[in-house]
Amino acid sequence: MKTKIILLGPPGCGKGTQAELLGDRLDFVRLSTGDMLREAVRNDTPLGKEAKKYMDAGALVPNDVIIGMMKDKIRELKGTFLLDGFPRTVEQADALAKEIDIDVAINLDVDDEELVSRLTNRRSCPECNSVYHLINKVPKKEGVCDKCGCKLYQRDDDTEKTVRNRLRVYRENTYPLIEYYRERGKLATIEGIGDIEYIYTQVSKALK
Ligand SMILES: [Zn+2]
Repeated sequence: MKTKIILLGPPGCGKGTQAELLGDRLDFVRLSTGDMLREAVRNDTPLGKEAKKYMDAGALVPNDVIIGMMKDKIRELKGTFLLDGFPRTVEQADALAKEIDIDVAINLDVDDEELVSRLTNRRSCPECNSVYHLINKVPKKEGVCDKCGCKLYQRDDDTEKTVRNRLRVYRENTYPLIEYYRERGKLATIEGIGDIEYIYTQVSKALK
């Protein structure tokens, strides 16, 4: 089985759900660069100290610092991991390839109209941060949080204009990355539409 994987996919594609299933059922450790950075800073590791300098200055943490952190983490693992949120650019993919030979990049794709419908139907609770969906996870009482009774609202991130803009930015940045893995014979594209279990079956097939 393939054990070193990258998960790619636009916002709202269901990547988080699939990553969770891979973790629960196949023991994949999910490596998110955001989580890793926060952990390294908290533990005050040498790389964490380095990263903190950039974060405090509001700058992007350079690729070599992120990759260094990833290498440390991967060494602790038995080698079954999935990368989520990294690489984001071809430059990062190149830097990663110098250190780690990835088995497959799984591209969980969903067309924009479906993503817009998924994301613009989200409603959030300002008080407890619960998230609802007007089609898939309807609150018991319209417009009100089940847990704390507060009035639900639509986050700015989830308005149609913002969603379309996020998707455009994602497509522009990720397209070269998808081509990068396709050229190297490492791309598996899976349509992220339909039942979660069905999508999971497709993902597992890509790992054979
Ligand atoms: Zn609430």
